Amino acid sequence: MLKTSIRGGISLRRWACAVLFWSVANPVWALDAVVLQLKWEHSYQFAGYYMAQALGYYRDEGLAVELREGGPGVDYVAEVVGNRAHYATGTPSLLIDRQQGKPVVLLSVIFQHAPDILAVAKSAGIMSPQQLVGKKIMVKQNNQTPAVLAMLLNETGSLAHFDFLDQTNDLDGLMVGKFAAIAVYSTEQPYYFQQRGFPITELKPINYGIDFYGDNLFTSEQEIATHPERAQAFLRASLKGWAYAMAHPDETIAVIKNVGSKHSGGHLYFEYQAMQDLLLPTLVPLGHSNAGRWRNIADTYVRLGLLKPDYALSGFVYDPNPTVEISRFYRYLYVAAALAGVLAFFIFALLAFNYHLQREIRRRKQMEARLQLNEEKLSTLFQFSPTGMAYTDFTSRQFIDVNPALQDMTGYTRDELLTMNYLDITAQEYRPDNIAQVEVMAQTGRFGPFEKEYVRKDGGRVSVLVNGFILHDHTGRKVSWTLVEDITASKKAQQELLLAKEAAEFASRAKSEFLTNISHELRTPLHTIIGFSQLLAMGELAAAEEQKMAVGHIMTSGKQLLGLINEILDLSRIESDQFELRLETFTLSPLLDETVALMSPTAAERGLTLSQGCYSDIAVRADFSRLRQVLLNLLSNAIKYNRDGGTVNLFCVIDGDVVRISVVDSGLGIAAADQSALFQPFQRLGAEKKGIEGTGIGLVVCKRLIEAMQGSIHFNSTIGVGSHFWVDLPIAVGEKVAESLPVVQISAFSPSCPEKISGRVIYIDDCVINTNVMRHVFRRLPDVELLIREDAESGLAQICQYRPDLILMDINLPGMSGLEALHLLKANPATAAIPVIAVSAAAMPNVIKEGLQAGFLAYLTKPFDVAELIALVSKTLAKHRV
Ligand code: ADP
Repeated sequence: MLKTSIRGGISLRRWACAVLFWSVANPVWALDAVVLQLKWEHSYQFAGYYMAQALGYYRDEGLAVELREGGPGVDYVAEVVGNRAHYATGTPSLLIDRQQGKPVVLLSVIFQHAPDILAVAKSAGIMSPQQLVGKKIMVKQNNQTPAVLAMLLNETGSLAHFDFLDQTNDLDGLMVGKFAAIAVYSTEQPYYFQQRGFPITELKPINYGIDFYGDNLFTSEQEIATHPERAQAFLRASLKGWAYAMAHPDETIAVIKNVGSKHSGGHLYFEYQAMQDLLLPTLVPLGHSNAGRWRNIADTYVRLGLLKPDYALSGFVYDPNPTVEISRFYRYLYVAAALAGVLAFFIFALLAFNYHLQREIRRRKQMEARLQLNEEKLSTLFQFSPTGMAYTDFTSRQFIDVNPALQDMTGYTRDELLTMNYLDITAQEYRPDNIAQVEVMAQTGRFGPFEKEYVRKDGGRVSVLVNGFILHDHTGRKVSWTLVEDITASKKAQQELLLAKEAAEFASRAKSEFLTNISHELRTPLHTIIGFSQLLAMGELAAAEEQKMAVGHIMTSGKQLLGLINEILDLSRIESDQFELRLETFTLSPLLDETVALMSPTAAERGLTLSQGCYSDIAVRADFSRLRQVLLNLLSNAIKYNRDGGTVNLFCVIDGDVVRISVVDSGLGIAAADQSALFQPFQRLGAEKKGIEGTGIGLVVCKRLIEAMQGSIHFNSTIGVGSHFWVDLPIAVGEKVAESLPVVQISAFSPSCPEKISGRVIYIDDCVINTNVMRHVFRRLPDVELLIREDAESGLAQICQYRPDLILMDINLPGMSGLEALHLLKANPATAAIPVIAVSAAAMPNVIKEGLQAGFLAYLTKPFDVAELIALVSKTLAKHRV
């Protein structure tokens, strides 16, 4: 029967099972027993508590809740304050109770709006509180219906306008007109009028600005103080029950009926619907309340005279999580936010600073590493640099540090140098310049490059090139870094180069002068030769005497030319050190006699007196023929540069272990300004302008020859008085004197009386004139057969057939050279023994030497001396006749 009365609800059996389940799951003896005092009889007005009980929400929280029904005569506030109940449902008038000293604490608001209204008979046509002025109104004038009273007060200005009747539950009194209005609960009594078909008008305080909270749940301060968790648990379970109840009216109505409500299902459902507007379960969270509305309620109470103005809300509303007052909270929040902002700023600043610091540390570490590397590089450079380096105090000039290169340069150790300043090692004459340079450095920050000389510890000098610049050390002291380059070698090389350049320039000048001279020297004899030859060719000189005179001039000039060439070659040989001395010990006087004898005819030509004053047997160790060459040159000069009728004196004196051979003349003398150029090649000192023959070579050759013989040559001369040339030679002591003098008396072979010589000779030469000369020469040897060939190839072919006793070979031949032909002859056993004499114009010493080494028996240079050639040929044929 009940089952069918619940629309869409659960069966009673299911409820029984649920209750049984909760009983088993949570035994009663284990639960905390509490009492909830309802302020009125069982109805939907307390639905949430029934459902929390029925659904085991209380049990889940560990609570065994007894729901005590209220009613007329039950003072629910007194029940709680008197500790007979732990919790109770109440109205906003709890504010009044609290001001009266009752320690009640609001746990939660359940009804967002108060259910109090005034019910007026619709038929009375009353639509506003003002229309009730002067009329009878049944209303509880105590604190039970304050919202209604507040509405009347607000709308009419005074409650004195009304005739209040003490309230009873006389609803029928309205229907019969005993009074004009009655205060009722909007959730209950209207259902009564509705059931009776009596239409009413509801005057709702909310429509007139009075919006009180309705039913609430409260407890005592003691309960909050002693069982705060229980209070929270009770509230949690109750609100959960309320949520369920407002969503499941049918189930809830069934439960309410079950707990003994005397109301019908319809009544309860009417109540449920009316409560929707009061609880606003879908709009407002269950249990929500705010302090502002409570203050409004309290102020209205004050206006109604129900509450004294000095009310206090603090502690009235239970706060499970006490929080500070909202304004203070916001103040705190602002302060906290500001602090957080400041903190955040500082943290950010700190992080930024930290970031920069890290970056700076990284940068400095890298810089430190780079600096360390540079330091190592610098230190290595300082230690191993070939350039001297000095670190010096700018003001005191004292060395602070010096590198090994500078120590090597100066010969001082590092410790020694560190006690000195740089002027101490600078050569005296460079100090002023050095000080001037340092003054420049003080203004410009750097000095140099400038050259100076250090005086080494051993007294030696070293040329240096100095550069420097100013720095400041870590103490701010002014210091200078100086780089010192040793330029001694390059200076020397530079000087040598300069000397070489000067010498080259001098040589070049001298050679130009020589070519000018030589041209003159060549032209003069050539002029004689060509001139007389032409006269002879033209038959101008018919007389035998004239012809003989002409031939004599030609021969003299030819010999002069030959002498010139020989002198030049001699100089060349001597200058290139390609000459050999045949040193031997011999007595001087025979040589002096010979030279005087040789030069006497020339002296006589000039009317000069030539005397010799060396009569003792002084022996010297020298090259006989070279010494003769020197003496002949000195005598020749003494004659050439003399005046007519002058004197030339040759004599020798002993000076210690040296014999001095002097040639003194009474000639022109040599100007003092010219004397320094005397022993230099091709220097004729103006003699060429005076028409005196010469080449400017003789004295140079003399000097080199005498020095090669360990002697020396000197002179003094006075212009217009004469000259004295002398040669100092070491005296040979205790050495064996050569028995026969090595004088080659070529002239001993008289061209007019050759020996009776016979044999076969081949002469190979491509020059027809030369071969003609040779033919004429061989007329002097009538028993000698001469065969002439013009090249080496035909000559060699002929040699094999002809089997000559002697071969005369030119060197420069067309095709195969004379030297190559000689090699072939020497390589062939059939011809190897045939003597071969070179007859060549190639007269350079190295060529002659090479020829002799290759196997020529002798080397005759063109123009040859006919007598010498005949003598050599005769001698060879006599010796090597095959
Ligand atoms: P050369 O006589 O062929 O010119 P030397 O070398 O023998 O060459 O002499 C060089 C120069 O020295 C001569 O040209 C001459 O000017 C000068 N000279 C040499 N000897 C004498 C001297 N006895 N009296 C004056 N001047 C001389």
